[in-house]
Amino acid sequence: HGETLTKSETINLRQKYVGPSCTLFYKTDPLKIVRAEGQYMYDEKGNRFLDCINNVAHVGHCHPEVVKAGCDQMATLNTNNRFLHDNLVVCAQKLTSLMPKPLSVCFFVNSGSEANDLALRLARTYTKNNDIVIIDHAYHGHLSTLIDISPYKFNLPGGSGKQDWVHVAPIPDSYRGQYTKEKYPGDELGTLYAEEVRALCKEAKNNGRSIAGFIAESMLSCGGQVIPPSNYFKNVYKIIREAGGVCIADEVQTGFGRVGKSWWAFELQDDDLIPDIVTVGKPMGNGHPVAAVITTREIAQSFKNTGVEYFNTYGGNPVSCAVALAVMNVIEKKNLKENATRVGNHLINSLKIMCKKHTVVGDVRGVGLFVGIELVKDQITKEPATDAAVYVVKRMRENFILLSSDGPYNNVLKLKPPMVFSLENADHFIKILDELLLEVKDGVVPTNDVIHANNVKAMSKDLQDSFLNGPTERKIRIDEAESMTGN
Ligand code: PMP
Repeated sequence: HGETLTKSETINLRQKYVGPSCTLFYKTDPLKIVRAEGQYMYDEKGNRFLDCINNVAHVGHCHPEVVKAGCDQMATLNTNNRFLHDNLVVCAQKLTSLMPKPLSVCFFVNSGSEANDLALRLARTYTKNNDIVIIDHAYHGHLSTLIDISPYKFNLPGGSGKQDWVHVAPIPDSYRGQYTKEKYPGDELGTLYAEEVRALCKEAKNNGRSIAGFIAESMLSCGGQVIPPSNYFKNVYKIIREAGGVCIADEVQTGFGRVGKSWWAFELQDDDLIPDIVTVGKPMGNGHPVAAVITTREIAQSFKNTGVEYFNTYGGNPVSCAVALAVMNVIEKKNLKENATRVGNHLINSLKIMCKKHTVVGDVRGVGLFVGIELVKDQITKEPATDAAVYVVKRMRENFILLSSDGPYNNVLKLKPPMVFSLENADHFIKILDELLLEVKDGVVPTNDVIHANNVKAMSKDLQDSFLNGPTERKIRIDEAESMTGN
């Protein structure tokens, strides 16, 4: 069922015909998934895996209402948005109804990358400025412009490096960053990190450059499941606007109720925090390619005033809009935001209790169903336990749980499961993790276990150098490194 080739045939054909830079999860022993339902994925042998990482299958894999909405519309009509169609306008009306009032105009596109690329065009057109401020280790998409604003990619050894028009602010990480909650237990962290952005803007101005905008995820996923300190965005937005730029919230991973309390993660910090542009994607189509940019009437109008038409062949087609509408309706009908809060709180609180006895866990953090568990070799020095994280991910898979690791040191276990994740799923996850953490005491992985320790390829140049100077075995294994970091 769902399989026409044997697994080894699939692997062979993939090697022969698919671009080799498209890497697989569990590279040395990839999974072949043939069907999925809810929060579960099934391999070709019928093994069931608990999916803790798929934030695209937001309302659950193959949700029947979403599938039906797409199928029905596909059997009726699919065409471009130069014809009037109800799905497009109803979808736009619904999406904007979930946003703060000024964000009232939509552009429909087909991927998070397209959304962010259009957001940059809007920002530059509206402000007539050029430069962009970003946060370190961010990932915003795979188009040329977005690689340029994604240190996660441009800092790789084979990457293209930082462009002059890009200004990189430090990760506002209160656990590991330059300002920590230990040193600053009050509420000054948000201001301290925001001041770094002010310094960047000042330097840019001194160099004769002009800021078009600031783009950031409202919670930093590739940065290691980091929740920026309170008041950070409020201060940064003020600084950016004073510098003449607009503020873009990338909600591609964090949107559509993942954080439980609200539809969008930018709303968590402050009710009054209103971005000028919001980009959404991934969960929006539950797997179907649909994404959007939501902005103010004023910004949309300035784009129109250029006289350059915006046309996107597939953006906003009736099928994509039917699917997106069904996703939003299911989130509401099934109270999935409330579920994210209930299950997320239980998961985070239980993890915090369980992890107290494991010194390899340095920090547990999260909101709703967006959770990170940071592994360290030493709680005081916070030396990253990268090997342990890679090992745990591998052992979890052997226990039929799909998990990933990420962050600048690839030492943060990352959970962002479908929103139908249940209390039982959370308890099961915790039980297995509790057992596996015993195997990586002090961050040391069992020596008889041949793992491809560090995902060196996913590291910045500096970090990579430090790993390359490590044991020879590691150097040899670089090319085989397990790839479980993921955007
Ligand atoms: N922004 C963020 C925060 C993302 O995580 C991603 C995808 N991982 C993108 C943008 C790009 O989205 P897509 O892959 O749909 O182009």
